[in-house]
Amino acid sequence: MTISPLMPVYPRCGVRPVRGEHCHLIDEDGTRYLDFAAGIAVNLLGHSHAGLIGAIQRQAETLMHVSNLYGSPQGEALAARLVETTFADTVFFTNSGAEAVECAIKAARAYHQHEGNDQKFELITFKNAFHGRTMATISASNQEKMHKGFNPLLPGFRYVEFDDLEGAKAAIGPNTAGFLVEPVQGEGGIRVASPEFIQGLRALADEHDLMLVFDEVQCGVARTGTLYAYEQLGVEPDIMATAKGIGGGFPLGACLATEKGARGMTVGTHGSTYGGNPLAMAAGMAVMDAVANEEFLAQVRARGERLRGRLEQFIGNYPDLFEGVRGMGLMLGLKMKGEPRPFMVHLRDNHQLLTVAAGDQTLRILPPLVIEDAEMNEFIEKLSAGAASFQPED
Ligand SMILES: *Cc1c(COP(=O)(O)O)cnc(C)c1O
Repeated sequence: MTISPLMPVYPRCGVRPVRGEHCHLIDEDGTRYLDFAAGIAVNLLGHSHAGLIGAIQRQAETLMHVSNLYGSPQGEALAARLVETTFADTVFFTNSGAEAVECAIKAARAYHQHEGNDQKFELITFKNAFHGRTMATISASNQEKMHKGFNPLLPGFRYVEFDDLEGAKAAIGPNTAGFLVEPVQGEGGIRVASPEFIQGLRALADEHDLMLVFDEVQCGVARTGTLYAYEQLGVEPDIMATAKGIGGGFPLGACLATEKGARGMTVGTHGSTYGGNPLAMAAGMAVMDAVANEEFLAQVRARGERLRGRLEQFIGNYPDLFEGVRGMGLMLGLKMKGEPRPFMVHLRDNHQLLTVAAGDQTLRILPPLVIEDAEMNEFIEKLSAGAASFQPED
């Protein structure tokens, strides 16, 4: 037997974390890493956050799981909190981002089919998008590296260029059910949609009675300095997927919708055994308690501006390596002149700094949202040392 017990679908590196402390990870042999990857935008309260731990501990001791066949005071409370603080009227809880997007896709189709328009099933999606790894969510992305070996894909998706309103408009046809878009592409390279593009999609959706679906799995939950990124783009969706940060490290996602967006999601149409169980709800509520307030969000914006300013200053010293800084809040990307992976590996292995490579030659910088000045200083020191010692052929 040569296959590893862990199915070998990830290119796992030699860092083997066993403990977390605020913005640092400590691995098996005691090496400390500065974590500016945060589990890919998940650990927004850092590691070992007392409030989150306490909430999960208390709930685990009280009631961990019950079926969705029973009433859920815990689910009702978190759903009400999300309804209060977002565009949404109703919420379906999931255990991951892909499941949240799946629910969003089903809701968009179900809206039209509920209205008797069975031919309206196609979602217009955008190139280099990432929506997850299930069959429907890989089908929603044009990225061939995710399709290879898994054909046939699910029908019902049509890809157009990101941020290209004319392309999106031209793609509308008799089968169109709506648009599915990340307001800020994460995996695709921290590409921020222009307000004109997103507002244009909203106008097209209104004009043709289409569903505007946002995938805020990565950019949502305070990451960009508002609870959700759409708030800064001047429009509201009909349906939205959220996950990653919303459990602060506990597996949790949600599909949010307006009453109209959820019109087809009636009793018996959808479900999940674990989705929204009391333990997950406790984690989600602890995260919302920490982040869903103006004081915390203002701090994220201030930290984001400071970090961005320092990155802009820093890249000026290395014009051969970097092209620019982009992003919103603490969802930042360093656009590089070449592939970001070798530099990410160099920072990790030689400077104990964790970042994430992304598409479009971009290095993702996704720190916990609770970084202090000391950690920002440590980050810039490590990054500067890394850039100074980097040999592109490393
Ligand atoms: C990570 C991600 C997903 C998938 O989330 P999983 O929890 O891995 O299933 C979907 N959409 C976006 C934008 C993501 O970044």
